[in-house]
Amino acid sequence: MAIRFTPKLFQRFSQITRPLNSSPSTLPVLPFNFDEKSESFVVKKPETETKTKTESSILNFENTQELFPTFSTTKLIRSVFNLNMASIDPVVDMGIWVMRSKLLDVPGFRQAILGSVKHSFYEQFVAGKDLKETSETVQKLYGDGLRGMLNYGLEHAYDNDSCDQNYKTFLNTIESTKLFPPSSVSFVIVKISAICRMDLLEKISNLLRWEKQNPSFKLPWKQNSLPILSDSSPVYHTLDKPDPLTRQEEQDLELAHERLSKLCQRCLELNVPLTVDAEDTKIQPGIDYLTYNSAIEYNKLGDTPIVYGTLQAYLKDAKERMLLATKAAEKMGLPLGFKIVRGAYMSSESKLAASLGYESPIHNTIQDTHDCYNDCASFMLDKIVNGSGAAVLATHNVESGKLAATKARELGIGKENERLQFAQLYGMSEALSYGLKNAGFQVSKYLTFGPVEEVIPYLLRRAEENRGMLSSSNLDRQLMGMELKRRMKAIVGL
Ligand SMILES: Cc1cc2nc3c(=O)[nH]c(=O)nc-3n(C[C@H](O)[C@H](O)[C@H](O)COP(=O)(O)OP(=O)(O)OC[C@H]3O[C@@H](n4cnc5c(N)ncnc54)[C@H](O)[C@@H]3O)c2cc1C
Repeated sequence: MAIRFTPKLFQRFSQITRPLNSSPSTLPVLPFNFDEKSESFVVKKPETETKTKTESSILNFENTQELFPTFSTTKLIRSVFNLNMASIDPVVDMGIWVMRSKLLDVPGFRQAILGSVKHSFYEQFVAGKDLKETSETVQKLYGDGLRGMLNYGLEHAYDNDSCDQNYKTFLNTIESTKLFPPSSVSFVIVKISAICRMDLLEKISNLLRWEKQNPSFKLPWKQNSLPILSDSSPVYHTLDKPDPLTRQEEQDLELAHERLSKLCQRCLELNVPLTVDAEDTKIQPGIDYLTYNSAIEYNKLGDTPIVYGTLQAYLKDAKERMLLATKAAEKMGLPLGFKIVRGAYMSSESKLAASLGYESPIHNTIQDTHDCYNDCASFMLDKIVNGSGAAVLATHNVESGKLAATKARELGIGKENERLQFAQLYGMSEALSYGLKNAGFQVSKYLTFGPVEEVIPYLLRRAEENRGMLSSSNLDRQLMGMELKRRMKAIVGL
């Protein structure tokens, strides 16, 4: 049964959760002063008077030797080069244009393009072409004290055969965790759009949106779930009453339930949690529906959740939806896990809304997104302490990492607590990952793997994300550059 959101309940959000003091800037303000300054990234002196001692000292980026102890010099040089290339807009524009162009269909060009992608973006952001290569990456990370979130880079499926094929790939990934060192894998990632046909996912999402607007509208196929939409969720995707599911579509939906259920069952048996990625708002209600349905079946009170959903803090309704779902889960005695991200589909979301003449579902300012992220993280940290929640704080934003780490430490949530995980994408924000690990938290790298031609959509998102001088990779480039300089000085004996 859908639970109605009350404004009073939402107003209480800020009282329920102790806020992480959100920062006014995307650029990290670090608690130390570098003697070297890059043009693109000026590290500011701390405003010590406004920070508590714990907050200013929780992440230490000062000692680059401690941040990159196991990075070979070749790896550092390669990373600095790749991240520099990824920060030059014309290079990224050109790369994106080529990866999206018809040139990829021309045999000679195809080999050349895939070859150059492989030695640049792919090498930086992809953990391996298959499970064998990825297991080597996981072992290296594990040796460094980090864990891995395994993500086969599958994208949308448009028919049941592809869904079955993708299901087998996910299952194979789950099975492979038996061969990895114990606890080196923190999560297996699943994309619902790879195991449930896109057109069906879209139709279910439309029906769920219609039901939200017309509570008397009946969905005969709907099984147990938690509240999916809030009163402020956008409904512009569904302006007309959608047709009901056909018999065939109902059967196909049942197949999607079965695929996800079998994956969750195997995760339960192997004791490795599963996280469902968030995608765009057009299909997200369907994704949340299937995710919550499995969470109800597989998350057991008292244990760390087996099934985690993903919440995109850049959405205006994110906080309300999280509040509704956690409240309903608590009533059912169900622990709920969320991976909290800011969101990776900003331009397509805004374009779609604008093309239909509606306001974007994304916060009007980046500061609103930061505030929403920090509030949601703070809320989930409180849930971790009271035993009803678990969170993966997936971010490259140093300020968010620092705020959450400070609060987690105050609440006594440390490395031993399986319910809190910080996470960054492979190839990004190494300094933050190692800084958080050194500060005593569990940290995972999100490891996308797969052959180069299969992970291109993933690479396109990374290329977009790393573009521009303000991207989070600036911190890594600067610290890696300093570490290289330190090593060179050590070699020449200076
Ligand atoms: C482990 C991991 C898992 C992930 N899984 C998912 C997933 O399942 N689904 C998904 O969508 N993404 C996912 N992401 C990607 C994530 O959404 C991006 O990393 C994120 O977009 C970058 O945000 P950040 O927290 O690193 O912070 P920052 O780099 O500080 O913030 C940049 C983000 O802020 C938001 N933003 C930028 N400008 C504005 C603006 N003008 N107004 C409002 N908001 C703005 C956008 O979301 C942008 O990406 C994942 C990331 C990680 C690290």
